[in-house]
Amino acid sequence: MGGNGMANRRIDLRSDTVTLPTPAMRRIMAEAEVGDDVHGEDPTVTRLEQRVADMLGLEAGLFLPSGTQSNLTALMSHCGRGEAYITGETYHTVASEAGGAAVVGSIVPITLPVEEDGTVALDRLRAAIRPEDFHRPVPRLIAVENTSLGRVLPEGYMEEVAALAREHGLRVHLDGARLLNAAIATGRTPASVAAGADSVSLCLSKGLGAPAGTVLAGDEAFIARARRARKMLGGGMRQSGVLAAAGLHALDAHVERLADDHELAAALGERLAPVVEVQRVSTNMVYAGLPGGAELKRHLEDRNIVIASPGPVTRLVVHRDIEPGDVERVGAAFEAFYN
Ligand SMILES: *Cc1c(COP(=O)(O)O)cnc(C)c1O
Repeated sequence: MGGNGMANRRIDLRSDTVTLPTPAMRRIMAEAEVGDDVHGEDPTVTRLEQRVADMLGLEAGLFLPSGTQSNLTALMSHCGRGEAYITGETYHTVASEAGGAAVVGSIVPITLPVEEDGTVALDRLRAAIRPEDFHRPVPRLIAVENTSLGRVLPEGYMEEVAALAREHGLRVHLDGARLLNAAIATGRTPASVAAGADSVSLCLSKGLGAPAGTVLAGDEAFIARARRARKMLGGGMRQSGVLAAAGLHALDAHVERLADDHELAAALGERLAPVVEVQRVSTNMVYAGLPGGAELKRHLEDRNIVIASPGPVTRLVVHRDIEPGDVERVGAAFEAFYN
């Protein structure tokens, strides 16, 4: 809650979704030019959609309330009832979206193991594309995720997936909730990170710091189908330019600074390494083994530090409301618990 310089500011490491809109963002939201977006009459939404599409090298965009709804909209626009999509078993669309593809979309998820580097091995993907047979659901799509649990997928992987997909008449969806973290971490353009994807979902409400909103991008025909799916899912919003303005401001002001989050995550990983088992630091995330359960959580909460459930693999996420000075406060708090 703001209060910069306060000795005991709340430090929330659960997710980069906890960021609060800045005063500058709120001002721009208040002044946004708006209209009824279901009628296509909100100029701010239209501007955001086109800006993200251009940035990703795709034709058109569609603004949605959340990443979950955007991914489901994409899956429903690529796959029909009883058709399948192939994806990694830890990826968000199957692991963290309440089963929406299957439950709401009647789309069959074919899930494959995810490698250490966040990819699904190409030979596994190839093997999962079985010849057409009436016993089996027909796969229409491969869904990839970048970043995945903070990891940036290796350069060239997307193109290989796309080539494989094309060879078999499948399409590729990229869940790029944190695609800009991948771009900033590698110095590549967003379009280069997305290259090969037929559709991309990009969240504005994570490290970018907008209060809500995701843009789904693809070609014109895909976005026309997605507009219908979004309506079906209840995601058509009216004067949503108020939210889109926050997204535009985030793209203006909060992209380059993602590098600060990555730097701070590295510093946090280094500070914690002598104290706990740090398993991995990638982009804005530190993964660590944090024994101590509820007792640890209470110990940290007493020091105004909030983390996700402690366990053998716990994610600490750095974002724009974490400051360099917080690294030492967090380090000292863990030290006090474990020593
Ligand atoms: C956060 C996230 C989403 C979407 O989440 P919402 O909370 O619904 O906006 C999708 N995919 C990945 C990889 C994510 O991290």
